Amino acid sequence: MKTVHGTIKNLYHTVIVNAVESYNDLNKNSWLITNSSMSANFNDFGGFIVPYGIELNTKKPVLSINWNERPNNSDVLMISENGLCKVLYDSKVDSNSLLITESCNLGCIMCPQVSGHIQKDSELYNIALETINKIPVDCKWLCLTGGEPTLNWKNLISIIDICLNRLPKVKIQLLTNGACFNDSKYAEALASLASGRIICGIPLYSDNAIDHDNIVNKEGSFYKTVNGIFNLASYNIPIELRTVLIRQNSDRLIKWSRFIYSTMPFVYRVVLMGIELTGKAKDNEKDLWVEIRPVIDQISEVALFFNQADLDFRMYNFPLCSIPISLHKYAYRAISEWKRLYDKKCMSCTLNNNCGGFFFSSKEKFNNIVSPFNN
Ligand code: SF4
Repeated sequence: MKTVHGTIKNLYHTVIVNAVESYNDLNKNSWLITNSSMSANFNDFGGFIVPYGIELNTKKPVLSINWNERPNNSDVLMISENGLCKVLYDSKVDSNSLLITESCNLGCIMCPQVSGHIQKDSELYNIALETINKIPVDCKWLCLTGGEPTLNWKNLISIIDICLNRLPKVKIQLLTNGACFNDSKYAEALASLASGRIICGIPLYSDNAIDHDNIVNKEGSFYKTVNGIFNLASYNIPIELRTVLIRQNSDRLIKWSRFIYSTMPFVYRVVLMGIELTGKAKDNEKDLWVEIRPVIDQISEVALFFNQADLDFRMYNFPLCSIPISLHKYAYRAISEWKRLYDKKCMSCTLNNNCGGFFFSSKEKFNNIVSPFNN
């Protein structure tokens, strides 16, 4: 989550607010983004966000920040009494996420979740509700994530219901390991609530149970996930099938693609993702990391195969200069802005606007790969 560190005055508890740029949006729940000291006269705002150095004569809360990091109009912010400002909803990006739970029923060896203090589901639920209430009503896309969001089924269903009702144009992407849908009653419940407005993003890390179960650290997971995918499909819920490229599955990509097509050709999309080296993935980096060049031939064959099968194939988290031009059409800008890095060399690259860059956490891995395009 994008986070800005600032200094605060007159705030004594954490608040969730809208950031607004206009005086027309006077509202107790809105904080005005302003670099004018005259703004203190507008008492109907809940607070103010100003650049360092601007003093406001007000008893309202004032967050002072580096102006280059100021929020956008309509962002939803969680601001704490220590000056920490978390962007819960970024109005300038297409894909925002709501965290349902930090708990998980698997132990994936490349889990990017940073361990530490686990927030209670009830706190996350309240944060999600307050966020949804402040998101612009024309929002088109929201991602629900975890942990494993289906573990708190009651909260998940409630949040989906509220999203769909408050945000009439929104479509939801649910990131889940799919195991819960092994029981078809959950697939049925999801379909009856959100049919036509939800897609499930589900990882299948290999074409076989042994490798998949070893990667997720839980025996029986492969069959539960595959069965969950069938159950969701039987209720017409589209599925984006995902895998993360790691050493443990890197020599079976072609078999993986054949397995998908032969057993679940109905999936909506297939995605190959570059690894994010945070959390457990960072701890296991030596065991997981695989250079992309030695597997490019396999990936090219996979892409061609899915293309011929008329299945939408995408690559997330791979900078364009790390893959051949023939694969560029499959590569998407998928890394969130606050996690995305470009090298100094990228400034001169003619494909800079199309390239999704690489994760901050993978900086060292791409130092020697970044190579700008010149025409
Ligand atoms: S040089 Fe930078 S912008 Fe260009 S393709 Fe490589 S990573 Fe992307």
